[in-house]
Amino acid sequence: MTDLTQLTLRQAHQALESGECSSLELTRATLERIERLEPKLHAFITLTPELALEQAAQADQLRARWRREGGELPPLLGLPLAVKDLLCLAGVRCTCGSRILENFIPPYTATSVERLLTAGMVVIGKTNTDEYAMGSSTENSAYGPTRNPWNLRHVPGGSSGGSAAAVSARLAAAALGTDTGGSVRQPASFCGITGLKPTYGRVSRYGLVAYGSSLDSVGAFGRTAQDVALVFSQMAGYDRRDATSMDLPLPAIQLEDDDSSLAGLRIGVPDEYFIQGIQPEVENAVRRAIVSFEALGAFVSPVSLPHTEYALPVYYLIAPAEASANLARYDGIRFGARLDSDNILDLFTRTRGQMFGAEVKRRIMLGTYALSAGYYDAYYGQAQKVRTLIKRDFEQAFEKVDLIAAPVAPSTAFRFDEHLDDPLAMYLEDVFTLPANLAGVPGLAFPVGFDSNNLPIGMQLMGPHFREDLLFRAAHAYQQTTDWHQRAPSLS
Ligand code: GLN
Repeated sequence: MTDLTQLTLRQAHQALESGECSSLELTRATLERIERLEPKLHAFITLTPELALEQAAQADQLRARWRREGGELPPLLGLPLAVKDLLCLAGVRCTCGSRILENFIPPYTATSVERLLTAGMVVIGKTNTDEYAMGSSTENSAYGPTRNPWNLRHVPGGSSGGSAAAVSARLAAAALGTDTGGSVRQPASFCGITGLKPTYGRVSRYGLVAYGSSLDSVGAFGRTAQDVALVFSQMAGYDRRDATSMDLPLPAIQLEDDDSSLAGLRIGVPDEYFIQGIQPEVENAVRRAIVSFEALGAFVSPVSLPHTEYALPVYYLIAPAEASANLARYDGIRFGARLDSDNILDLFTRTRGQMFGAEVKRRIMLGTYALSAGYYDAYYGQAQKVRTLIKRDFEQAFEKVDLIAAPVAPSTAFRFDEHLDDPLAMYLEDVFTLPANLAGVPGLAFPVGFDSNNLPIGMQLMGPHFREDLLFRAAHAYQQTTDWHQRAPSLS
């Protein structure tokens, strides 16, 4: 019998439909593989095997009834899903990678997760993340880092490193992540899989624990563009519980097997993304992929995003500023663990001082400073103005081209500890992913090669607001004619 854990989401869906396997069999195979590989990888913070088996049994019953009586089935019925531990699932603890939420059990479920449950998916666990999604390596998780399935001495990227490692290691065919400054695309790239950061406003943030509210987005991981599109189409769309979610129709995403022509598609290549310091193997692989797009019929031309170099300082003012406000609620009284004291100020100080990790405290301090009286205009206010210029760069570029092609990160997955003592070096990892968050545009990362150490190289396509369909179409066409996305880490 085939190893069910090796199936893509779409293949697993077909196997369930044809009766080749049941959801219980698929879920058990998944849980067994997790049990075997999790000690090496540490992709999860919390596993939910009972819940998963119960949901899988229900899915099988529903399918059996459907075979007898017909009707309609939920589109992703019985397929396992891993969820980043920053998204709430009612009744299952949600730590956000932080000690302060070690025992937090949310009473409600995030809309994105809820919609996938309604679509029939089976939740197998909550995946590891940098504390409050602040980081690019999962080294900031209070529960220990996740390892890169391609090389256990290297980071999987972050902050959604647990989700990316899980999909790459075939512990789940699909996973949810969040992307505030690159946290889906960068780990997807480091782990050799496909990951989407949707348009800001496309997927509800309700039930996502807030980091930088004007930047946060809920994205998805899979091994193929097709798989990510399946998950995305089910969770996208208007939600009255998120005031920033947009009531716009979702264009049909039809990715046929033989659909590999990109005739007429205009792809822009920004010089500002091929800067000094980029690992030459990364640049070469991305440039080769761009040539492949041309061979598929796309028209490739240079395009300019002149304010790109300001994205890093702008993001590292705006994101910490928003984080400092969002994290004020974890004070030991309203949310989170409490270190008791007979004096209220001391209670706040002890709780927040001891329960938050170093990076979270650094961001709160940076953000509080940037927002403080006398500095607000010079830092936060100025950053907002430059953010508008960055957004305008994209608007102007998308008047000339349909998509923008760029590397995801300047290097492949780095080693543990390589950047841990140098926050600035860690922040520099985000230089190519931050602009899309500042502009609110969607981005899709997917593998386009390997470096000489057999570590995956990713590239990203960015598109105009609400044109995820174009990203999927282009990446799918590329994946129809290449096999980077089919390579698997050996892990033996
Ligand atoms: N690495 C970036 C940060 O630390 C982005 C994280 C994210 O997208 N959540 O803020």
